[in-house]
Amino acid sequence: LAAQSHPNHQTIVKLSETVAFGGEELVIIGGPCTVESLEQMETVAQKLSSAPVQALRGGVYKPRTSPYAFQGMAEAGLEVLARVRSLYNMPVVTEVMAISQIETVAAYADMLQIGSRNMQNFDLLKALGQVDKPILLKRGLAATIEEFVMAAEYILSHGNPNVVLCERGIRSFDNYTRNVLDLGAVAALKQITHLPVIVDPSHAVGKRELVAPVAKAAVACGADGLIIECHPEPEKSVSDARQALSLEDMLNLVDVLKPVAAAV
Ligand code: PEP
Ligand code: MN
Repeated sequence: LAAQSHPNHQTIVKLSETVAFGGEELVIIGGPCTVESLEQMETVAQKLSSAPVQALRGGVYKPRTSPYAFQGMAEAGLEVLARVRSLYNMPVVTEVMAISQIETVAAYADMLQIGSRNMQNFDLLKALGQVDKPILLKRGLAATIEEFVMAAEYILSHGNPNVVLCERGIRSFDNYTRNVLDLGAVAALKQITHLPVIVDPSHAVGKRELVAPVAKAAVACGADGLIIECHPEPEKSVSDARQALSLEDMLNLVDVLKPVAAAV
């Protein structure tokens, strides 16, 4: 189902009435790694809504490496997302980590993100097949392209045709960058599947000063969109502080990406 059947078929995945992945427009999702407060998300939304950033991100169920690290605001965070969603008329994307969270998250969010650590959580993928919301499926930490496509296949084959693939870097021998961004995978996925493909440059490189150059390369390479972490006070981010862009840098980056997208 994920495979390209006739040449150049492109599935369009709608995020809202006006925003869709896989069409002419580059879709940019921006926001913090973690939802921390209403004030934080209002500042982010207010700034980003003035730019062509079409959607907001922010995790409320966080897959933290340490069980002692902040695990996310959970339902209180979903309330925050719902509030900025309606105030700024921007769709929101947030992660769901377990089957038990699906119903609640789907009641608030416009798109459900499946994180790298859950890419092969097959029962979760099957359950997402029953959901009436688009799914943002992130590539596993060390998943092959075939494993990635097969993970999408689980969702599609269980009834949900609205899947967007997200390359976010894979583990390799060098940890100078947090992960290694696989742009070859972006090009390949665009050819072998009909699904929209977006790139997360933030988790790929893990350092804010490297986000802009790889974001440009991703767009030049044919990505249908980007998901980028940014924060009103990047160094104070409760998670992924090192890779968060300031809101000013985020707006500058969006400006630079427009002509790149227009040239592809
Ligand atoms: C995130 O988007 O904050 C995240 C945890 O991403 P990934 O699953 O790609 O590590
Ligand atoms: Mn993050």
